[in-house]
Amino acid sequence: MPASLHAWYSLHDLEALGERGAVLGGELRVAELTRLKVSLHADCDATVQAGLRCGRAADGRATLQLTCTATLPLTCQRCLEPVEHTVDETVDWVVVGSEAEAARVVDNLEPLVLADGRLQIATLVEDELIVSLPMAPRHASIDECGALAQNLDGILVDQDVERAEPTLEA
Ligand SMILES: [Zn+2]
Repeated sequence: MPASLHAWYSLHDLEALGERGAVLGGELRVAELTRLKVSLHADCDATVQAGLRCGRAADGRATLQLTCTATLPLTCQRCLEPVEHTVDETVDWVVVGSEAEAARVVDNLEPLVLADGRLQIATLVEDELIVSLPMAPRHASIDECGALAQNLDGILVDQDVERAEPTLEA
């Protein structure tokens, strides 16, 4: 596990890295991302490939471009069996030290406010992965679902037929 992903960087550090055009990155184990892990189907040995390209905006602020790719096992809400969620994201930010400064950022740049004045790449990656998770993950088609959903689907179709019948009270 690369130390650069777990190191804490101050705004000044990020500005210095941006000036050098530094590129940091490596592999993170999902098992160590405890906030993300609770949303996954089960303990898994999946990894996340993360890369961070540091740069400078026209006004001298530090910019970050994060790329992360991963395949995460989620729980299908139809059959409760694992369904793969593929993440392949690139996000750009300009780094600022406070909310007040974030409000002044223009040029369609997304401000990233440093919490407590510092940033850890592993945390940033974990936040992005959590945001990427679908609210209700499901297999793309019911044919890919496990037996539970297949059976339930049959039951629901039967109920729909009954409900569709006209009644005198209606
Ligand atoms: Zn399913």
